[in-house]
Amino acid sequence: MQAIAVIPGQPDSVHLAELEKPSIDTIPNGRGVLVEVLQVGVDGTDKEINAAEYGGAPPGYDFLVIGHESFGRVVEVGDGVTELEPGDYVTATVRRPGNSIYDQIGHYDMTIDETYYERGINLLHGFLTEFYVDEPEYLVKVPNSLADVGVLMEPMSVVEKGIVQAYEIQRRLRLWRPKKALVLGAGAIGQLATLVLKLQGLDVVTMARTPPPHLKSQLIEELGARYLSTEEIDLSEVMNRHGPFDIIFEATGVSWIAFKAMEVLTKNGILVLTSITGGDAKVEIPGDKVNLDFVLHNKVMFGTVNANREYFELGVKDFAHSQSQYPGWLQKLLSHPVEGLGEYEKMMHLLTTEKQAVKVFMQLKSLNGS
Ligand code: BGC
Ligand code: ZN
Repeated sequence: MQAIAVIPGQPDSVHLAELEKPSIDTIPNGRGVLVEVLQVGVDGTDKEINAAEYGGAPPGYDFLVIGHESFGRVVEVGDGVTELEPGDYVTATVRRPGNSIYDQIGHYDMTIDETYYERGINLLHGFLTEFYVDEPEYLVKVPNSLADVGVLMEPMSVVEKGIVQAYEIQRRLRLWRPKKALVLGAGAIGQLATLVLKLQGLDVVTMARTPPPHLKSQLIEELGARYLSTEEIDLSEVMNRHGPFDIIFEATGVSWIAFKAMEVLTKNGILVLTSITGGDAKVEIPGDKVNLDFVLHNKVMFGTVNANREYFELGVKDFAHSQSQYPGWLQKLLSHPVEGLGEYEKMMHLLTTEKQAVKVFMQLKSLNGS
């Protein structure tokens, strides 16, 4: 079967590779599940892996099949599988457990192992292929009513984790009633963060580079949030006019903005960092001032990556909630479909050049498998 792969360490090596169709027998105790891939979303991570900024091939291979945002349909299950049956729609978690204590308790997203295993990213093949086999533990069922947006579940899980962790950390305050949020970035993660924060009843300002109007700003406004361009207004001015922000969710992919965000966080506030910045940019910051402000006002900043199945399950609930609150909105995030694995060059091209793409995704099969 075909797969889209890169040769890690070699820039622009994206190509079509040949893989053997996997069998459920490779998983012990009849726990194998064979999934037919229907759609796969791509993001900055795939772009950076193809730019050889990171990524590793599985042992025994010189290539890595990419794609970590999957949506598919179960076609076969082993005798030991009770959780799923053929015909079920599923998405898959990305990271697989290593050895640390966090991995052992199902919190592999919090691993402290040196080496981490992520499907489509590091040391494990991804989902941009026709079929894959996995264990039910890593497969999350998506109800039929959400099938057309199921491919957004992986980025949604990353957002859910960031926001759940922010609330967990803020329990230090005994009482935390956030009212205003600032989301930085209006790509898929920024859009979904705006959605989750709106569903929680917050006032949200979402900022990205391009001055409105355009698809991204329109989507933000459809949620009843405010879109502002970083080219038209400075972060401190945004804080004066629309703040103070109890929570800032950073998802621009640009590190200096994360440091700038530290300067505008309110007292007792929390800054969530989610950008994966594979480069080596340097930033100059007013260190004394920012440090003093963090200390004097009990502020928090934390990083968050990946997500375990608990956050995927929360994502499923919030997607259902979103479909009733903002009908049809999630579907609009799926702005740039690319049909067929053979179109990998078109996919990479869109990913690197189309600034107005909210989500580029590959459509391998129609949702009913044809
Ligand atoms: C993925 C995460 C992953 C992270 C780091 C992100 O693009 O969505 O699941 O943990 O990259 O590799
Ligand atoms: Zn990703």
